[in-house]
Amino acid sequence: MKQILFFIFLSFSFKLTAQPDDSLQIRKIYSAALTKGKAYGWLDYLCNNIGGRITGSPQAAAAVDYVKKELDQLQLNKVWKQEVMVPNWIRGEKEVAWIEQGGKNIPLNICALGGSIGTPTGGLKANVIEVNNFEELKNLGREKVSGKIIFINHPMNPESINTFSAYGEAGTYRYDGAVKAAQLGAAGVVVRSLNLSLDDFPHTGAMGYNDSTPKIPACAISTNDANKLSAALKQNKSIYLYFKTSCRKEKDVLSYNVIGEIKGTEFPDEIVLVGGHLDSWDLAQGAHDDGAGVVQSMEVLNIFKTLNIQPKRTIRCVAFMDEESTWTGPVLYAKMAKQESAKHIAAIESDAGGFSPRGFSFKGDTLKCLTVMKWKKLFTQYGLSDWDFGYGGSDINQLEDQGTLLIGFEPDSQRYFDYHHSANDTFDKVNRRELELGAASMAALTWMLSEYGVK
Ligand SMILES: [Zn+2]
Repeated sequence: MKQILFFIFLSFSFKLTAQPDDSLQIRKIYSAALTKGKAYGWLDYLCNNIGGRITGSPQAAAAVDYVKKELDQLQLNKVWKQEVMVPNWIRGEKEVAWIEQGGKNIPLNICALGGSIGTPTGGLKANVIEVNNFEELKNLGREKVSGKIIFINHPMNPESINTFSAYGEAGTYRYDGAVKAAQLGAAGVVVRSLNLSLDDFPHTGAMGYNDSTPKIPACAISTNDANKLSAALKQNKSIYLYFKTSCRKEKDVLSYNVIGEIKGTEFPDEIVLVGGHLDSWDLAQGAHDDGAGVVQSMEVLNIFKTLNIQPKRTIRCVAFMDEESTWTGPVLYAKMAKQESAKHIAAIESDAGGFSPRGFSFKGDTLKCLTVMKWKKLFTQYGLSDWDFGYGGSDINQLEDQGTLLIGFEPDSQRYFDYHHSANDTFDKVNRRELELGAASMAALTWMLSEYGVK
């Protein structure tokens, strides 16, 4: 009896926030994504016809025009571009690196880190010191480090089940490595690529300088070659490493966030945002990072139009510009949002690859998070069982102080860092059904948010 009462209570409390028809509507949304979706075709175009979309590049400009044009064709209530000045860092010639070993030059696969200065025109040649972490670097002291190239060989932790935790832990070596090494007088820094696989692709990504430390050139080395360099140093600590990069920073360039929306019928001043970032690194097509997130966000609007769903609340898709370097697009968008009379009640970001959906992670007011997390039972049959407190994403994070519920779409994380920021991040690595299931998951949650709001 107690059990029966408990079940009655459970179903009653569930009905307060979700009606039985919800599961039917969600089923329709998945079917539309899997049979009438446009996401895969859009991604094909972004990757194969436009290519890498680093901020300030002609490809980024072409991607802005393309997304605007495609959103225009969806017959939304409003499509517009928001101006934003973005950095214009240029890689220059393909990087060259080698070690001198046994009278031979052994080539290494490296790439400059985003934002780095280049080496002198003739390249940089020096002895190398390998460290695993900043503690080891500090213990070496200025005398040993001065004039050397510091090789930070810190692998991502393979024991982390969610690879983003490993990325978070190891990411500091890519971002802060140059400053820490330069503080002790190093001439350059080479950082092991943030990749859990062993392969020949160097992985770029943002790095930072500060005003009180000299700027030194910074690059990433492929995981295979990091192991090769480490083995060579074990045999002979006095080998020379040579590398040459010609990257440089030019004047900022005018670019845009691209925005499209369907007005809410009952609560137009309550906005549910879906978004990803349109810029990528220059080495590849930016398929998983983050072409996938952009086309999935566009797909949310397309599904609403295809099924002729008139949302109660306003649904807005944002293709953010400049997530990879300095977040100018997301910051400016949040500023605009603050000035609007409408309020962003929730925002969903897809920036973890176009892989099979696993769940969502929530950041914001605890009660609001818990209200939405109750909807999990509608999604488990589609493979979304991970609904946890966590991080929304770096684009939508800028909305945090506006009380917006931040939601990160979480696909399976095991393969993402094989591709992330490397020449390996290409369209053929994206599986159509996985991409579509992700878009459907975002659309279904967007629909629930537009029906019930966030209380
Ligand atoms: Zn990204």
